Amino acid sequence: MSLKYFFIIVQNASLLITFALLYNYLWIKNPKKNNLVFRIISGVIIGFVTLLIMSFPAIFFKGIIFDTRSVILAISGLFFGFIPTLIATLLALAYRIYLGGDGIYMGIAVILTSPLIGLYWHYFRKQWKTKKFILELLKLAFIVHIFMFGYTSLLPKDKIFITVESLWINLLFVYIPATVFLGWFMLNQELAFKNIQADKKLIETQKRFITILQKLKLSAVILNKNQEIYFLNKTFIETLNQNEEDLMGKKFYELFYDTNNKPLSELRLKDYFILPNFETIFKSKDINDIHLYWTVVQLYDLNKEIQGYALIGENITERLHYEKELHLAIAKAEESDRLKTAFLSNISHEIRTPLNSIIGFADLLIEKEDDDEKREFLTIIKYSSNKLLDIVNDIIDISRLETGQMKINREYFDIWVFISFVFKIYESDKVLLSKNNLKINLDLPDYLKGQKLYSDKTRIQQILNNLVNNAIKYTDKGEIDLSVELSRINGTDMLVFKVKDTGRGIPDNMLNVIFERFRQVEENDYRIGTGLGLSICKGIVELLGGQIWVESKVDVGSSFYFSIPFVQMGENDTNYNKDDVDEDLKVFNKTIIIAEDDQNSFYYLNKLLSRNHLKIYRATNGKEVLELMKNQKIDLILMDISMPEMSGIECTKIIRQTDKEVKIIAQTAYASLNDRDRTIETGCDEFISKPINKIELYKKINAVFQN
Ligand code: ADP
Repeated sequence: MSLKYFFIIVQNASLLITFALLYNYLWIKNPKKNNLVFRIISGVIIGFVTLLIMSFPAIFFKGIIFDTRSVILAISGLFFGFIPTLIATLLALAYRIYLGGDGIYMGIAVILTSPLIGLYWHYFRKQWKTKKFILELLKLAFIVHIFMFGYTSLLPKDKIFITVESLWINLLFVYIPATVFLGWFMLNQELAFKNIQADKKLIETQKRFITILQKLKLSAVILNKNQEIYFLNKTFIETLNQNEEDLMGKKFYELFYDTNNKPLSELRLKDYFILPNFETIFKSKDINDIHLYWTVVQLYDLNKEIQGYALIGENITERLHYEKELHLAIAKAEESDRLKTAFLSNISHEIRTPLNSIIGFADLLIEKEDDDEKREFLTIIKYSSNKLLDIVNDIIDISRLETGQMKINREYFDIWVFISFVFKIYESDKVLLSKNNLKINLDLPDYLKGQKLYSDKTRIQQILNNLVNNAIKYTDKGEIDLSVELSRINGTDMLVFKVKDTGRGIPDNMLNVIFERFRQVEENDYRIGTGLGLSICKGIVELLGGQIWVESKVDVGSSFYFSIPFVQMGENDTNYNKDDVDEDLKVFNKTIIIAEDDQNSFYYLNKLLSRNHLKIYRATNGKEVLELMKNQKIDLILMDISMPEMSGIECTKIIRQTDKEVKIIAQTAYASLNDRDRTIETGCDEFISKPINKIELYKKINAVFQN
C-alpha cells in the first residue's frame, strides 16, 4: 500500500473525528434530539459528512474506491438510530450509484450492510454502553469489516486479488481501530455529559436536602466518620441553646449523656450507631435535662466504607414529662380504685350485719305473729330489707368482678333437678303472681334428664334470677318462657339458656349498652333498678366461659340468651351435690360456741339453734372462745371472722395447733376477697356468709358432723 492511500485514509479519519465532535454538540447536548424534524436534519448532516468522506477516497483502480463510509454509517446506526441513519444511507447510496465504476456493487453492499449492523447494536444490544464497551465496539467493527472484506468477491475477478492484498492491512490497522476509536470517543463524550448532569443534580439534591434539614422542626446533625459534627441545623442549635461555632467540629458524644445518666463514650456511641434509634440526654445549665430521641443512618462512600452518620433527633423532653404525669395519674387512679373496692367491702360488712339481724328477726317474728296486720308490716320489712340486701350484693359483685376477685366454685350437679328447682321459685314469685295476665313456662328437653353439669350453680342461678326478674319486671302480660338446650358453638358443646318475654322490648341502639354498668334504657330521673344486673350477668357468664346476648323488638318482647360450656361428669366423679331440697337440723346433744360480737346476730343464731338439746355458749371475741374451750368439751364453733381483740381467723389458727376434732364453721359478712378459701385454709371446716339463712345453716351443720 502506498503512502498516498494511507494519507487519504488518515484524512478520512480526521473527518470522522470532526463528526464525533458534531455528535457532542448537535446531538448529546440537544434537548430536542428526539424530535422528528431534528432527526431528519441530523440524517441529512450525517449523509453530508458521509458524502464528504466519499469525496476523498483512496482510488485503488479506476472505479474501485475505498473510504471510511463503512465506519461512519455503522457508527451512525449505533448512536443515532433508524431515521438519521436511513437518510444518511440513502444519500450515500445515491452518490455511490452516481459515481459508478467497477466497485459499484461492492460499494452498494457496504453502504447497505454497515448501518444495518450498527442499528442491530442500537436496538438489540442496548446494554453495550454499560458492559465492556470496547469489546462490544471491537465486535461491531469486526463484523462490519468482515462483510466488507467478503464483498470484494463482487469486484471484477481480475481485480479481486490485488484489492484484497492491499485491503486487509487497511481493515486491520485503519478501519477496525477507527470504528472502535470513533465509538469510544463518542461514548466518552456522552458519558462525560451525563456525569456533569448527574453532578448538577447531586448538587441540587444536596441543596434541597440541606434546605429541608434546615427547615425541619427536628434536630438534624451530620457527623464525619470520626463522629465530629460537620453539619447541624437550626433546631438542634436552638434545642441545645448554644452557639453554632461552639458545636461545629465537636465530637458528638461529648455533648450527651445516655439514658442511665452516664456520659456517652465514643465506644458506646458506636454501639448506638448500629441501632436505628437511641436516646440521649443533654444537660443544660439553665433548664432541665433535654431528652433527644435519635434516628441514625450510616453514610457509606463508594467503597462501602463508613463515611459518616446522619442523625435526626426528636425532642421528647415534654412527652416524657407528660408520660411521667400520666403514669402518676394512672397509679393514683389505681390506688383510688383499690380504695373504692376496699371501701365497698367494708361498707358491705357494715350494712350486711344489721341487715342480717333485721331479716332474721323479721322472719322469726312472722312465724310467731298471729295479728295479720303486724304480720303484713313485718313481711314488708323483710321484703324491703331483702331488696336492700340485693343492692348491696350487686355492688359487692360488681366490685369483685372489676378487681378480678369474683370466685367461681364449680361442682357437679344434676342440671334437670337444678332447673326444675329454680323454676319453682320463679313460679311462686310474688311480683309474677301479682300480674294476672302473665305466666311463666319451662321448656326442659328430655335429653337433659340425669345429665350432670360441672359448673357453678349458684352463679348460674344468680344470672337466671336477674334475667327472669327483669322479664317479670318489664312484662305486663303474656308469657315468659325459660328454656335450655344443648348447642354446638365453635366446636364446643354449650348449654344455652334462654329467657323470652312478651314485654316492652328494647330499642336496637340500646341492645349492647344495657350490658354496661349503670346503663338502662330509660336514662332519666325516673328509673327503677340500678342498671347493674346485666353487667354482673355478663361478667359472670364470661368467667364461666360463655357469652350473653339479647334479641329484642320494641313492644313485641325480648329474648336473653347465655351459654356456658357443657362439661359433663366423668364416670368416676361422684362428688356431686344431690341435695337441692330443704333440710332440717339433724344434729342433737352437742355443745356449741357462738362466737359473735354483735348482740343481735348472736340472738338470731341462738334462736335458730335453741333446739335438739343443743348447749349454747356465747363468746364475743377469740380469747373468750379459747377460755370457754379450757373448761368443757366443745363440738362446734360458729366462728365470726371479724371480732375485736382476737379475730376468728387468729383464734382458729390457735385452736388447730392442738385440737383437730372440734368443728368450726366460719361466719362472715365480708363480701370481698376469697373468703371461703381463706377460712378453709386457716382450718375451718365450712363457711357460711351473712345474712345467715336458716336452711343453709342447718345443712352446713349437718354436713360437718356427717364427715
Ligand atoms: P336494672 O334492671 O336494675 O335497671 P339491668 O342491668 O338488669 O339493670 O338492666 C339494664 C336495663 O336493661 C334495664 O334498666 C332495662 O331498661 C333493660 N332491660 C333489661 N331486661 C329487660 C327486658 N326483659 N325487657 C326490657 N328491657 C329490659
